Order: sequence, then C-alpha cells, then structure tokens
Amino acid sequence: MKIGIFGGTFNPPHLGHYRAVLAAIAALGLDLLYVVPTKAPPHKALLHGTPNPEARYRMAELLFANDARIVVTDLELRRSGLSYTVDTAEAIRAMHPDAKLYLLLGTDMFLTLEQWHRPEELLQIVTPAVFARAEGQEEAIGQQADRLRARYGVETVLIDHVVFEVSSTELREALLRRQGAELVGDAVYGEIVRGRYYEVRHAPEWLMAQVALRNPKRVAHTAGTAEEAVRLAKYWGADVDQAREAAILHDITKGLDQAEQLRLCEKYGMMPDDLERENQKLLHAITGAGEARAVFGAGDAVFDAILYHTTGRADMTLLEKVIYLADYIEPNRAFPEVHRLRELAYMDLDAAVLYGLELTAQELSAKGRAIHPRSHEAVEWLYRR
Ligand code: ATP
Repeated sequence: MKIGIFGGTFNPPHLGHYRAVLAAIAALGLDLLYVVPTKAPPHKALLHGTPNPEARYRMAELLFANDARIVVTDLELRRSGLSYTVDTAEAIRAMHPDAKLYLLLGTDMFLTLEQWHRPEELLQIVTPAVFARAEGQEEAIGQQADRLRARYGVETVLIDHVVFEVSSTELREALLRRQGAELVGDAVYGEIVRGRYYEVRHAPEWLMAQVALRNPKRVAHTAGTAEEAVRLAKYWGADVDQAREAAILHDITKGLDQAEQLRLCEKYGMMPDDLERENQKLLHAITGAGEARAVFGAGDAVFDAILYHTTGRADMTLLEKVIYLADYIEPNRAFPEVHRLRELAYMDLDAAVLYGLELTAQELSAKGRAIHPRSHEAVEWLYRR
C-alpha cells in the first residue's frame, strides 16, 4: 500500500493544493492520501485573525471532499504544542506499519526540510515527493535532492505536474479585494464568507446571481432596491457595501410558501409572533434575515436591516431606514405617492420613513388588515424625534 502525507497550514486551502495532490496521487500510484492541517506550524508565524485550526481543517475538508482516496485528518489538531511533521509521520506509520509513506512537499517546504524537527528520523519514515510551485525550480530541487541523498541516503521523487502558481498568502490578499473565489472553489469560498474569514464578503454580482436563481421574478425589483439603497447610503453617509448587500438579500426568501417560511424560522430559531406567522409579507423579512446570515454570511447590521425592512421599528439605525426606503421608492415602484416619498427621502430621512409607514398603515386599514405593533412603535418613535 502506498500512502501520501500532505501537511499544510491551509490558510486557506486552494486549487494549487488540490491539483498538486491529484498529480501526486496519479504519479505515485497512491492508494490513500492524508491531508494534515497544521495546528501550530513551527516555521510559519500565523497572523492575528488567522482562522483557528478547526476552521482551516473544515475548509480543507470542503476542498478535498469529492475524492474517496483523500482523507483530511485532525491528527495535528489533537496534539498539543508545536505541530512537528515527524510526530505525524510516526503516528501514520503506527496506523499503517506496512505501507510505503511519501511526504508531499512544494518546493519551498522541500528546500527547508533539513531545518525541520528531527529531519533524519522523518526521512527514515517517509520518502519526499516534490512538486515545483513555479517554472524553473528544477535545478534547486535537484541540488536539494542530491544533498538529501548524500546525507540521509533518501531518494526524492520529483512529481511531474502542471505548475499552478498560487499561494495562500497571495490568495488572502486577493480575497481582501473580493477576488480569488475561483482559486478556492465554491464550497471553500462559501465557508470563508460564512465564517467571515479574511474580511471576505460575497461580490454583489454573485449575490445577485443567487437572487436570480432562487426567484427570477424578483431580479428587477432587487436590482432597483440595490441601486436606490446605494444612492441613499451615499447621500446620507451609511455604509454603502452593507446597504448594497442588505438590499440584494432583502427579499431572498420571498418566493417561498408559508410552510417553507415557517420551517426556516424554526431552523434559525427565530420564532414569529401570531401576526407574522399568518402573513407572508412579514415572514419573509424574518427568514430573509436568517438566510442572509446563515447562508450568505451577513453581519448584524445587514441582518437587522433585512429583519425590519417591512415593519420598521423604534430606534431604527441609519442602514435600516435606508433599506426600508430603498425598497419603497426604488425606480420600478409606480404608485401615486411615490414621487412625494422620493422627494422626502432625499430631504428628511425620518420624515420619509414616517410617511412610508403611514402609507402602509392606510393601505392595511383599507383592506381591514392588522398593522404590526413594531410599525406603531416606529411611528411613535419618529414622532417623538
Ligand atoms: P503560504 O502562502 O503561507 O506559503 P501555501 O500556499 O504555501 O501558503 P501551505 O498550506 O503552507 O500553503 O502549503 C502546504 C503545502 O502545499 C506546502 O508543501 C506547499 O509547498 C504546497 N503548495 C502550496 N501551494 C502550492 C501550489 N500552488 N502548487 C504546489 N504546491 C503547493
């Protein structure tokens, strides 16, 4: 049996890791490959804010999920102290005493191998298998292979593969600029956003695509709301990114029927009151906020803006007012009072929200429907201001 060991910080894992691993499995004819996320790397200082080892482990699991030959192991997560590869290699040898073990390494790691903890013991257990990380590294790899052969009597295997030049360091910088999603794949990217790692948020275009997938009929209204929300946010000094995100997601669950809405309420532990339970328009604000947070990684401000976008509430934040009004006056809206409401929205934000609440109250009263107490509280609060 041939087994590969591939350790890394995986901060985050990326397609460079994935492709290198597939190339190694094919080149070496591996039956099994252990991916080993490192808990405390001895040679790499982890920056403040680095996702914890469990989070890096989870991301690695997602990256390598689709291949039964690859097992992501928590061997190093379970050990205390610095994570030495020699300890991991010993543990794997104990589990598979008859297997041939290969240690998979990119050039950078291979060239520093002798500085690792107890290299001679490590090299008695494993055979190094190296893949270049950039073109033109063959000579340096060859020289290091010669040195290791001379010193430790070990034969290095060079894995022939198509170089994929990406590193976690570069990737983190790209993620900060909202780029690089294609270098980690959808599953890992989703996890990064949900976990709010690397200050990543979904690109607005991707969020809009999710709206289109779930509810094509809402695309025009959603795009209009986002446009208006950005305009209002810029005008009144609210956070433009949050406004755009909340606007795009505000109706994300609107296409769901009542039973589905109630299931989501339960899933997210957000219990609707009696009025909300019976009213689709109120329910979608609750479930929209829940989905925005759980599925799309929205933060608290965006969550609240979605949660209160239909009823308003006392003590509304600037962002909540922006989303409430953007939904009401976006360019596709065409009811008689919308012109007055649009004017007010750019003159006196509170007065505009108040007018909006009153218009809704009139409409509901005319239909003999109840007004949610939160809207009453919002009106009273706005009158007091
Ligand atoms: P950093 O930017 O911090 O150096 P990294 O991208 O090297 O991160 P690690 O988790 O430290 O990621 O790498 C684990 C292993 O994967 C190392 O052996 C490394 O050399 C190798 N590796 C990383 N990226 C690539 C790549 N693009 N191609 C081949 N091997 C890679």
